[in-house]
Amino acid sequence: MTASQPPEHRPGSEPGRHNLDPHLARYAARTEGMTASEIRALFAVASRPEVVSLAGGMPNLAALPLDSLSSQMAELIAEDGLVALQYGSAHGVPTLREQICEIMAMEGISAHPDDVVVTVGSQMGLDMVTRLFCDPGDVVLAEGPSYVGALGSFAAYQAKVVHVAMDDDGLQPEALREALTQAERQGRRVKFLYTIPNFHNPAGVTLAVERRAEVLEICRQHGVLVVEDNPYGLLGFDGQTYPALRSTDPDNVVYLGSFSKTFASGLRVGWVLAPHAVREKLVLAAESATLCPPTLNQLMVSRYLSTHDWKGQIKTFRENYRERRDAIISALEQHMPPGCSWTHPDGGFYVWVTVPEGVDTKAMLPRAVTARVAYASGTGFYSDGFGSRQMRLSYCYPTPERIREGVRRLAGVLESEMDL
Ligand code: PMP
Repeated sequence: MTASQPPEHRPGSEPGRHNLDPHLARYAARTEGMTASEIRALFAVASRPEVVSLAGGMPNLAALPLDSLSSQMAELIAEDGLVALQYGSAHGVPTLREQICEIMAMEGISAHPDDVVVTVGSQMGLDMVTRLFCDPGDVVLAEGPSYVGALGSFAAYQAKVVHVAMDDDGLQPEALREALTQAERQGRRVKFLYTIPNFHNPAGVTLAVERRAEVLEICRQHGVLVVEDNPYGLLGFDGQTYPALRSTDPDNVVYLGSFSKTFASGLRVGWVLAPHAVREKLVLAAESATLCPPTLNQLMVSRYLSTHDWKGQIKTFRENYRERRDAIISALEQHMPPGCSWTHPDGGFYVWVTVPEGVDTKAMLPRAVTARVAYASGTGFYSDGFGSRQMRLSYCYPTPERIREGVRRLAGVLESEMDL
């Protein structure tokens, strides 16, 4: 598709395809990949109070100290308002970048504040990295399944996603090697491997420490960059923090971080840690996208990190999520019909469930909602239509009681689907 093609060949304007959008002929070709995610479409139904939603991945913020945050925000404006309410640099607030380096040290990363670019959530990091590296048709390797928001970014830049198989120990190195070799044989350009090594969204598994060096080595051998997305890394239920991929290969790994799961998702503060040359381009990309990330929010996070026991707060979050993980796993064991299996997350928000052959989780969803339970069907986490025998259950938000009730309802729906 080029700009010189006549409007009648614009996306969505093929003969026989009807669309009431009067602007259809004007859209750029890249908008073809922009479709509403199945998960977003689900939010409206799933948020009805009678429905137990195991669908969305909303962090549970109830444990945040709102009174203290409210006085911190008031103090920030009183003491530093003219800075906090002003434009800042696209690179991000320097003190926050220094504090991010301290957090990165917990994952074994030795970072310089210059190499950190603050973003509007790690979602913006994903968008910018894809913008920097992907031309239409370029291949991005991603675990199968993968994070739906990342798939959205890849689609928006017309990259082609090739999924790489996982097992209970995360990405399979052999499958990665095979995918790279095959792409090379077909003469296709692979730009990067996108991976979520810890407490994967949606799979709930973690890349085994023994596999990490091998994954890095394979990518190096094939000249492929690694994009490491790690929003859940500090939410391991036994308090263990895994060494980041970036800690051993900083020149070939772009790291995406976020305060969404460890502090407050609504502040939309995340970061990218990138090799020096990439970082320069990221700052330019960020400038053209947003001029700068919100100064107020960055200073708020910075103040919170320096005045609040944020490590204690993360411990509280971890305990809350662990209680919910225990509730969902025991409910699955108690209620699910034979032939179903699921992953056992050691951290994060999600369980990935596989149902028996013959059950289609996407087709079953309306019936589940009628039975007052919602989940995310597996197909939304693949770019190739796969996943109809899978579903993601998020245990992060509902109370343990609601989780147990939700799983009981879900098991009932599955049983009637399987004609038990
Ligand atoms: N990556 C993954 C794997 C996620 O699960 C999410 C949020 N659900 C994001 C990135 C985006 O997070 P943020 O709020 O930082 O944009």
